[in-house]
Amino acid sequence: MEEFLHPHEYNFIKKQTKVIVDAQSTNKDQDVVHTVITLAREKVAQLVEGQGGKALPLLDALTDVKNAHEADSFLLSLKPYVIPFPRVSEKKIERLFPKEKKLKVPDLEQFDYHALSYLGWYDLGTNKKYLVVNIEGRLMGVAGLYHPSSKQGLCTICHSFGEVGLFTKKIKGRKNESTISRGNYVCKDSMVCNDNMTSLDELNAFIYRLHQ
Ligand SMILES: [Zn+2]
Repeated sequence: MEEFLHPHEYNFIKKQTKVIVDAQSTNKDQDVVHTVITLAREKVAQLVEGQGGKALPLLDALTDVKNAHEADSFLLSLKPYVIPFPRVSEKKIERLFPKEKKLKVPDLEQFDYHALSYLGWYDLGTNKKYLVVNIEGRLMGVAGLYHPSSKQGLCTICHSFGEVGLFTKKIKGRKNESTISRGNYVCKDSMVCNDNMTSLDELNAFIYRLHQ
């Protein structure tokens, strides 16, 4: 079976499926429901337009979803098409963070790689958060100081509201400038963050800003 959906695209379809189910359960007006389904189908069609004919059954199945139970079955049927995040060994992760002498690699079996757009974990011991990102097929390690916030806030990676903290990374300033810190608020729990992601744009922009 050919995998053609990235985890964030699966999340996008999941979100549109929920929109359809919500409309079916709250709206008696069939015209409104029909419009909602048409719009959701259009959005998902745009997402998978590069995939040609193989995405068509997916669009038809999405349009047929009537309730939460059918939504679950539909989403389950998509799982085999999801491209997992590359599996990494402990050694490989250590090589991605050459400067992190106190790096503690978490249990790599705990992650669902089919649900990951990036691999992230927070180490209370070093007060750091570690991100492994896939930039155009090349894995990259990004470590930053992490201070959990006492208040809920907006995550810069998944654009959702929840438990966040300030992630900062020291970078070299321009000519004659000393080091400066760059960063932003990101989810404390990277699995929650991954589940919320429906686009890679914010993650890529965040990583880019940390290296400029
Ligand atoms: Zn997030």
